[in-house]
Amino acid sequence: ALMITDECINCDVCEPECPNQAIYLGQEIYEIDPNKCTECVGHFDEPQCVQVCPVACIPVNPQHVENRETLWQKFQRLQASA
Ligand code: SF4
Ligand code: SF4
Repeated sequence: ALMITDECINCDVCEPECPNQAIYLGQEIYEIDPNKCTECVGHFDEPQCVQVCPVACIPVNPQHVENRETLWQKFQRLQASA
C-alpha cells in the first residue's frame, strides 16, 4: 500500500482518482487506507494517485510493503466484497 506524507497540500485531486476508494480526508491531510490500497494493481498499470499528485507526497507505506501477488490477492478480496 502507498501512504500520504505530511507534505500533502489537501488539493483533493487524488481522492476521486482512486479505483478502490482508499483515499479519504483525515484529521489534517488526506490519508490512504492500507487495507484498500492495491497500488492500483488490478485496475491500472501505475498508481493513479501518484500520477496526479502535484507535490509527489505518496510513497510506499513502509509498514505495508507488499509484492504484486499480495496486492493482486487484495484486489480480488476487494472485488469479492464489493
Ligand atoms: Fe488508490 Fe491506487 Fe493510490 Fe492506492 S495507489 S491509494 S489504490 S489510487
Ligand atoms: Fe495531498 Fe497529493 Fe492527494 Fe493533493 S494529490 S490531496 S497533495 S496526496
